Amino acid sequence: MSVTASGDTAGATDTVIGRKIVIEVGQLQGLIEALGSRGYQVLGPKLCDGAIVYDRITHIDELPRGWSDRQEAGQYRLERRTDGALFGYAVGPHSWKRFLHPPVERLWRMRRSDHGVEVEGAAGANGGTAEGAQAARFAFLGVRGCELAAIAIQDRVLLGGAYRDVRYEQRRRDNFIIAVNCGEAGGTCFCVSMQTGPRVNSGFDLALTELLRERHEFLVEIGSIRGAELLAGVIGRAAQDTDLIAAAEVTARTATHMGRTLDTHNLKELLQSNLEHPRWDDVAERCLTCANCTMVCPTCFCTSVEDHTDLAGEVAVRERRWDSCFTLDFSYLHGGSVRQQARSRYRQWMTHKLANWIDQFGTSGCVGCGRCITWCPVGIDITAEAAAIRATASAPSTGARAAGAGHGGA
Ligand code: SF4
Ligand code: SF4
Repeated sequence: MSVTASGDTAGATDTVIGRKIVIEVGQLQGLIEALGSRGYQVLGPKLCDGAIVYDRITHIDELPRGWSDRQEAGQYRLERRTDGALFGYAVGPHSWKRFLHPPVERLWRMRRSDHGVEVEGAAGANGGTAEGAQAARFAFLGVRGCELAAIAIQDRVLLGGAYRDVRYEQRRRDNFIIAVNCGEAGGTCFCVSMQTGPRVNSGFDLALTELLRERHEFLVEIGSIRGAELLAGVIGRAAQDTDLIAAAEVTARTATHMGRTLDTHNLKELLQSNLEHPRWDDVAERCLTCANCTMVCPTCFCTSVEDHTDLAGEVAVRERRWDSCFTLDFSYLHGGSVRQQARSRYRQWMTHKLANWIDQFGTSGCVGCGRCITWCPVGIDITAEAAAIRATASAPSTGARAAGAGHGGA
């Protein structure tokens, strides 16, 4: 049976949102091909260099079938699983940020010519075009609940203020999102604490729950009209109660297997009231200020701008690169860096993420993905640091706010 957007026949499209259909595992290929034929570049999980990363995919055989990951503080290992699951892992080192807000991006290039200089890419102080973003629209396959929350946070930061980042806007435009409800919690996940997962609630075109029963199937929830239109070309069947119960059990089981928890009660006030807590010295003894945590974090957005010229002085290029509050240069003002010590840099990062971000953007800057814990080479754990401060903290004072909230604070 071919299930159309409205069920059995085409009908009022606004009633299709929330409808659930079951497809066989092989039908995922139909979705990938349908996205390709609509001009989308499909990006999804695949194995590379001993990790599950996000990259361009054209076939379901490229997905990490039968692989899982074991994660702990400072540890990441791939493991085989016997059930052939396509999405039987947590999140890896990549996030969708690398496509929407890339690690390195050319802002403009200038070449000396007979007529003066020719400039490519610039269009005003905040203008320009995102290379590659106009040619291809992105379709993301396998977006988790915490990752949808992270994209929403970056939207707020990069598009929601007085200055819109036009390059991010171009890359974000028309994204087609196929989300996946998590069937496997990672050892460092704490999305339940941050209320971002393991089930996705909004912000997707289609949401999959992988059902590993006698048959390998997916329950597909329609989240948008274009999601319904894409699904209309795929063979499926209407979901039965048994399918809905099985899907609910998948996310319920995942929710009880979180590797970490974070007590968020009064956390903002707690951190802002304990800027001189001795735990900041303790963590500074361990922190290498390597910046790994900020590079893997799906919400960290800071960048710096660098100019390069060739030796002949014919070509100049301006690039934007991810930067980090863990580097000395990041807080450099004339005469020196504001945050000289590892203590102040770690404190800046954690208090911004879990406290001052709320003052600045109205939400926590953490979605509970656990990447900063897994990919910290010395295993520093943001949930453990917060718990340690809570255990021995002075009581939060109402209205407390860190000096230089946001990007300041030495
Ligand atoms: S907390 Fe870990 S990952 Fe982050 S800068 Fe320190 S050592 Fe590096
Ligand atoms: S702070 Fe850590 S756990 Fe929170 S969103 Fe960033 S990487 Fe994920």
